[in-house]
Amino acid sequence: MGLAWMASLARQAAALGLSRPAAPVTRPAAPAVLVPEWDRAARAVWRQNQRLNAALTGLPQAVLLVDPEARRACGNPRFAALCGLPAGAVSPGLPVAALLRRLRRDGRLARADLLAAVREIRALSRAGQAACGLRETRAGRSFAFDFRPLPGEEGWLLALEDVTERRRAEARIAHQAQHDPLTGLPNRALFDTRLEAALARAAGGEAAALLCLDLDRFKAVNDTLGHGAGDALLRAVAGRLLAQAREGDTVARLGGDEFAIIQTGLAHTADAEALAARLIEVLAAPYELHGERAIIGASIGIALLPQDGAAAGELLRHADLALYRAKAEGRNCARRFAPALRSAMLARQRLEQELRQAITRGEFELHYQPQMLLQPRAITGFEALLRWRHPELGLLAPATFMPLAEETGLIGPLGAWVLRRACQDAAGWPGGLGVAVNLSAGQVGEGGLSEEVAAVLAESGLTPGRLTLEIVEAGLGQDQPRLIERLRRLRALGVGIALDDFGAGPTSLGFLRRAPVDKVKIDRSFIEGLGTETQAEAIVGALTGLCRGLGVTAAAEGVETPAQLARLGALFCAEAQGFLFAAPQPASAVPGLAHRLRGAALAG
Ligand code: C2E
Ligand code: CA
Ligand code: CA
Repeated sequence: MGLAWMASLARQAAALGLSRPAAPVTRPAAPAVLVPEWDRAARAVWRQNQRLNAALTGLPQAVLLVDPEARRACGNPRFAALCGLPAGAVSPGLPVAALLRRLRRDGRLARADLLAAVREIRALSRAGQAACGLRETRAGRSFAFDFRPLPGEEGWLLALEDVTERRRAEARIAHQAQHDPLTGLPNRALFDTRLEAALARAAGGEAAALLCLDLDRFKAVNDTLGHGAGDALLRAVAGRLLAQAREGDTVARLGGDEFAIIQTGLAHTADAEALAARLIEVLAAPYELHGERAIIGASIGIALLPQDGAAAGELLRHADLALYRAKAEGRNCARRFAPALRSAMLARQRLEQELRQAITRGEFELHYQPQMLLQPRAITGFEALLRWRHPELGLLAPATFMPLAEETGLIGPLGAWVLRRACQDAAGWPGGLGVAVNLSAGQVGEGGLSEEVAAVLAESGLTPGRLTLEIVEAGLGQDQPRLIERLRRLRALGVGIALDDFGAGPTSLGFLRRAPVDKVKIDRSFIEGLGTETQAEAIVGALTGLCRGLGVTAAAEGVETPAQLARLGALFCAEAQGFLFAAPQPASAVPGLAHRLRGAALAG
């Protein structure tokens, strides 16, 4: 509140003798005897008073002027209104005692509030001090006050403003800024503040735990039941978490389906694990969402305060690492942070960094393994298998880097490179040999694959019939109609489709019936048992029979011994591939291999 105006008002008030009783404010009745000087003076005072009144009336604040002894007061209409009194009720010269008597107990500014203010103000005015600040009334209203002694010890001035609504609005905004609107839980910002506070207390010996929680299968519920159900699920989860937390704990939603809990007053490390176990149990109970039933799980990572991190960021990273481990170990479980997790993560980060650079540095290469027709024995083509020539670690197999490439999205550019490279290589092979390229689930899931394949075929000049795309059914997701439509579009280009690792994962015969598939590659695990295991033999026999019935080529993977090859012949398997013929070889070895296997075919 600016105070220059107040000082000038105060000077006027002093000039008017406001602090003295009986300064006239209303026009005096015409005196019976005219005394011109007195009349002039009285008019001057009256005009001054009018101006002062006008100024006070127009002020946005409630203003009260009081004499030095706090006996008489003068307030503007806003002040009167604040006290629940009529506009002119606090007219100049009104005894403070009378004002106090007229105040109601339950007014916006109640009697008790003003009494307390007067007491406080007396002490201040005795010390000749100005003050401003904020006071709460008993009824819970907030007033900003500005108190000034008037110059020349003429009394004091108090300006008041009812800021209750503004403060409430501010509090609402502050609450909104710190809470998640969906669940009402503290958001990331407030959570960070609480975590800092918990860290400070932990430094003083008050142990605590940080639990980072991630819902399993939330996305599936959101996708299948809709966002409304997803929101309801998140609210229900928030309720269940709160029910398990104790006073003083913080349950926050950090975003999406991520929640975090600061568990305070930890007596033993086991307390944190016990809470995590309870949370996993209660969250696993079914949810009723708009008449639909949903079941989800939760994974939890735990970091302890103070031993697992000196700063909030570090603690969160460590709890996240533990969470990551919990997910890797099958989800629906809790794991505690351990320093070894950090070194594993650092190694992973390094590998990811190197993987990003490997494409531009040209460290990838394709090795080729021949694919054989069994009756008559003839080489039909090669399967392209990716290798990474790591500058320090040597030649790496896909198992060491493919999962990371899929997780980080690097599979996109990498897969595109493989496709282009394999088609370019194959276009130069003799005798119309074919090439098989492996596609990851991520590549098939992305739209635009058929356009990419068409472009690569056109660019390399490879006849479409010489390209086969190998896909693994497991991991391709639930949306079969869309997947089948995509495969149809690919096949319409004239390329072949092979189902890889058949029988190893969840495979539905329904998919095999509907999907446009040219070849089924029987998983190596069944071929391994041929000649020694009757079950393996029965399965391979059934699969080759099934393929014959469906008009699909049956191919055996991982053939290592002549005995296995003999059994495959007896079981009418059409094609085979494996170390028995050749291990995957660099591209430069392809012509020689093709030549040798042509010869072998003649000999076989
Ligand atoms: P896959 O497609 O089933 O490939 C066959 C794997 O078995 C290859 O391992 C191959 O070297 C190995 N193999 C071949 N014959 C024999 C045998 O007689 N005995 C044994 N024990 N193993 C044999 P590799 O090259 O390590 O590839 C592993 C997997 O990585 C592949 O399995 C495939 O799923 C994936 N992969 C390889 N290259 C690519 C690629 O370019 N893109 C994608 N998305 N995945 C790839
Ligand atoms: Ca394959
Ligand atoms: Ca395979």
